[in-house]
Amino acid sequence: MTPITCFEGRKTALFGLGGSGLATAAVLIAGGASVDCWDDGEAARNKAAEQGFAIVDLNKADWNAYDALILTPGVPLTHPAPHWCVIKAKGAGIEIIGDIELFFRERRHIAPGAPVIAITGTNGKSTTTALIAHLLKTAGRNVQLGGNIGTAVLSLEPPSLDRVHVLELSSFQIDLAPTLDPTVGVQLNLSPDHLDRHGTLTLYAAVKERLVSGASFAVVGVDDEMSAAMATRNEAAGRATIRISAEGALRRGVYAEGSEIYFSRGDAPKLVADIGGIGSLRGKHNAQNACAGAAAALLTGVDAETIVNGLKSYPGLPHRMEEVGRVGRVLFINDSKATNADSAEKALSAFSGSIYWILGGKPKEGGIAALEPYFERVARAYLIGEASNEFAATLQGKIAFERCETLQRAIEAANMDAALAMNGEPVVLLSPACASYDQFKNFEERGDLFRSIVKGLAGFAPVGPAATLKGDDA
Ligand code: ADP
Repeated sequence: MTPITCFEGRKTALFGLGGSGLATAAVLIAGGASVDCWDDGEAARNKAAEQGFAIVDLNKADWNAYDALILTPGVPLTHPAPHWCVIKAKGAGIEIIGDIELFFRERRHIAPGAPVIAITGTNGKSTTTALIAHLLKTAGRNVQLGGNIGTAVLSLEPPSLDRVHVLELSSFQIDLAPTLDPTVGVQLNLSPDHLDRHGTLTLYAAVKERLVSGASFAVVGVDDEMSAAMATRNEAAGRATIRISAEGALRRGVYAEGSEIYFSRGDAPKLVADIGGIGSLRGKHNAQNACAGAAAALLTGVDAETIVNGLKSYPGLPHRMEEVGRVGRVLFINDSKATNADSAEKALSAFSGSIYWILGGKPKEGGIAALEPYFERVARAYLIGEASNEFAATLQGKIAFERCETLQRAIEAANMDAALAMNGEPVVLLSPACASYDQFKNFEERGDLFRSIVKGLAGFAPVGPAATLKGDDA
């Protein structure tokens, strides 16, 4: 853990007693601060009290006694309306910050210049964060991975010159980190999301941009207009900026042309790697993630050969186009994280044909109508859950489909049909384009069940290593 010694002797109010809230309270206390803890939920308060934290009703507290409000990122700061504790803190004129801010202040206090790579964006944060951590581990670096993925930042080892922190940051976390200054700040992409919490797309973008402008080196995806504008502003301000694109050549930056990743400094582009054949990095969206990964790794001193090896051995994250294995020629893919049509589109576009598509669950607004351009890739669809009637109506006359109700039946039917496919590489793809809550606790449970059923199929074999890659020095 990272004790927060820069708050020694200060009195703080801490709101939100989930996992990261408890971790934050513990490290503040370990560093010598006093922490009055509160949560609107009684169960959370009781759990914290059992662990020995001081529970103080912040509704009734004297807010003038506090130096800061430490807030959990799930609590509304501005939209749809500021939480009551935010109003109290603002009334008392004290700062409102989160665990990420505490981490960066402690870094300045105990290990200025300790390498930190921070990653944000609307989509692909976890994939890119895990990929960068993997590339650095491949280079033999001591890596601390966390933030919005896995371990809360303050439960990681403290910042230090001989280890690299690789942190996924959500916009809520950035909103609570006014002095964010990572070594490398990665902003992948931007599309409307979480607007209920940020108000407008412009405000949401402004939060993400603080990661770009605070970084010593910014890595910015320029495939959407708002992120491209961030890169332009950052360059105009004279700050080091590496552009990345999955849409083709850039004069300066790291970009993908098809499956080939290039690095150009304004002169002849150098081939960094070819990611074709890497099962964990299929699809154009992953080319963007791989460009960001390669750029961040290059900036932290990883050589091109190690980047090639790291890309090749990247295992990918569970439930995101995860290769589960094969039965004969048939490849089984778990993309349970695809809870909307946008995400399912990424998976459908990554396979060129003979897709045996398992979809359905709790439908989202708009359904799957937007996916029609990809229907020709689908050999047959298998409908599960609540969305079956709605999706059947969309697919009628366009794709052969059957109603399977459960995942088990869908897998059995798809396995049988795909095994009889005459040619190509048939793929059984769970990419539901729906939330899971009608039949499962969450998308993880849905994907875990898919994986375990598939592993139990007769003739199942795990997938072999990715294809050989070329690369040269960059
Ligand atoms: P996040 O952490 O931002 O939610 P993940 O890495 O978990 O992102 O990926 C979630 C889903 O987002 C993936 O299953 C895929 O459908 C989509 N995705 C991943 N990377 C990108 C990207 N660079 N651009 C657009 N969509 C992406």
